[in-house]
Formats: sequence, structure tokens, C-alpha cells
Amino acid sequence: MSITRITCVADDCGTFPMDEALVQQLKRTGETFTCPAGHEQHFTDSPESRLKRRIEKLEARAEELAEERDAAQRRLESFEEQADRWYDEAQTEKERRKFAESRLLDYATGVVEVADGGYKWSCQCGARGQKLFEEVDAAQVAYERHQRSQCSVDHGPEVTVDVRE
Ligand SMILES: [Zn+2]
Ligand SMILES: [Zn+2]
Repeated sequence: MSITRITCVADDCGTFPMDEALVQQLKRTGETFTCPAGHEQHFTDSPESRLKRRIEKLEARAEELAEERDAAQRRLESFEEQADRWYDEAQTEKERRKFAESRLLDYATGVVEVADGGYKWSCQCGARGQKLFEEVDAAQVAYERHQRSQCSVDHGPEVTVDVRE
């Protein structure tokens, strides 16, 4: 076992003996040790401590990048949520338009599909059929019956069928 003398980093502390094998190990690892008076110190620029510092820097950078990525991800998610809301609002607006258009069409044609496979009639006179028909023809028949019997609007001359012999 060989002994080597180490000079303490603290001013006026002086030197102290240390086992050479231990010195080599401390130089390699960069680990902290203390002099007999208790001053903490370590050998700088050992390959291992350089590598350790490099790894620490890389790890810190990787952490920063991960945070940036998470922040970007959150921004993207909030934008997607916003886009979904806009889409839903546009859909609702579209539904409203469709409904308004169907009401208009309602007055224009007399018979309109108000639900999937459900038809009602309504007349210019303000009268409305309450029954929901499954067939457009049945709704049309009911509408025409209204025109012939209860309607207050002149729908024009009745259609007559001219049968020739
Ligand atoms: Zn010391
Ligand atoms: Zn009418």
C-alpha cells in the first residue's frame, strides 16, 4: 500500500496522507471526500466525472425537450377541442337551417318530410295536419282532402277528369 500526500483545497489547511489506490479511485469517479479537518472536495475532470456531468446535461436537455413536447401536445389538444366545438356548432347551425328550410318547403309544397320517414302536410291557409304519415302519398291525400273540404284559400279550379267515350 502506497501513501500519497494530497493538498487540501481549503486555504491554509495543508496536506494529508491518502492511500494511492483510493486517490486513483476518487480521481476516476470524481466522488466527494473530506480531508481530516472535514473540508469537502473532489478531484475534477476525471473521465468518469466528465462523463457524469455530460450525462446530467443531456438528461436535463432531454427533460426540457419532453416538457416542450408536452406543452405542444397540450396546445394541439386544446386546438382540437376548439375545432370539435366549432364543428358541433356548425352542425347545430346546419340542423337549424335544415329545419328552417324544411318549414319553408313545407309552405311551398304542402307536404314535407318532418322526420325520418314521417310526413305531415300544412297549408297556406295556416291549417296543419297533426298526423304523421309514413307514406308521402297518404299525406298528400290528406292534404288534398283538406283543400277540398276545410280550406279557406282558393286553391284554384278542381282538377276534373275528362272521360271520353
Ligand atoms: Zn482541509
Ligand atoms: Zn288550406
